Amino acid sequence: MVQQSNTPCALVTGAGQGIGRGIALALAGAGYDIVANDIVADPNNKAKGVYEVADRVEELGRRCLPVQGDVSSMDDHRRVIESAVRAFGGIDVLVNNAGVAPKVRMDMLEMTAESYDRLMNINLRGPFFLTQAVANQMIRQAGRSQKPVVVFISSISATVSSTGRAEYCLSKAGVSMAARLFADRLAKHDITVFEIRPGIIATDMTSVVKEKYDKLIHEQGLLPQARWGTPEDIGRAVVALAQGCFAYSTGQVIEVGGGFGIPRL
Ligand code: NAD
Repeated sequence: MVQQSNTPCALVTGAGQGIGRGIALALAGAGYDIVANDIVADPNNKAKGVYEVADRVEELGRRCLPVQGDVSSMDDHRRVIESAVRAFGGIDVLVNNAGVAPKVRMDMLEMTAESYDRLMNINLRGPFFLTQAVANQMIRQAGRSQKPVVVFISSISATVSSTGRAEYCLSKAGVSMAARLFADRLAKHDITVFEIRPGIIATDMTSVVKEKYDKLIHEQGLLPQARWGTPEDIGRAVVALAQGCFAYSTGQVIEVGGGFGIPRL
């Protein structure tokens, strides 16, 4: 049965850890009920993953629905959306966060078609079609308490070349255009769409290259703001977008990267 509520609902993909977890908790702290999607969702694991996030969300006084689903599967999209609508009556905010790095960093002259397809499916094709389905749900919903917002989490790799993970860069460049396309198409439905471009954020994804980035940040002056970014940094930016602070700026890119993108001499 559909629960009637004035509390807005946010669907966050890849919410079990890292940046997605930071976004889910920041949105819960700002008053959103959360649909916490991840490819892994084990109710017996309350130490890490979406069920841990659900406990934290509930401590913040909001409701949380953990939903297992693979963002690269269209069948899973339908199931995740149906579960969200059944639990909370609709989806007000979609955060396309789930994403993967290549299993092995390989020079682009050696990179395999399998790795290319895997990254494109999870990082680009999945979020594109999930957004298509959620946007249609947002258009169908009426009388919700807030105007719908979609956020794509891309990366500075959308524009910066890393020849050892070309497939990641290509997928994130595609995410950037997906955000722009949906912003254009959905404006007439009063749905705003944004791209957040994280810099170097401390999560499991970057733990394998920690030493390299420690040196770049703390010894070689890579960033004007000389520290690692945190999931909380990204979460705060998403909250500002979700709450309508940038309601007349659809299609904009927000870099959350300690000034990485400032051209410097
Ligand atoms: P992470 O690996 O710590 O977390 C990713 C989460 O997504 C995990 O919980 C994982 O289970 C989930 N996931 C993976 N594949 C999935 C799928 N097919 N369906 C549903 N969930 C899936 O990574 P993170 O660092 O938190 O990255 C989150 C997003 O931010 C990614 O899109 C990543 O590309 C992007 N990003 C990260 C950084 C960084 O420095 N960490 C920088 C720029 C962009």
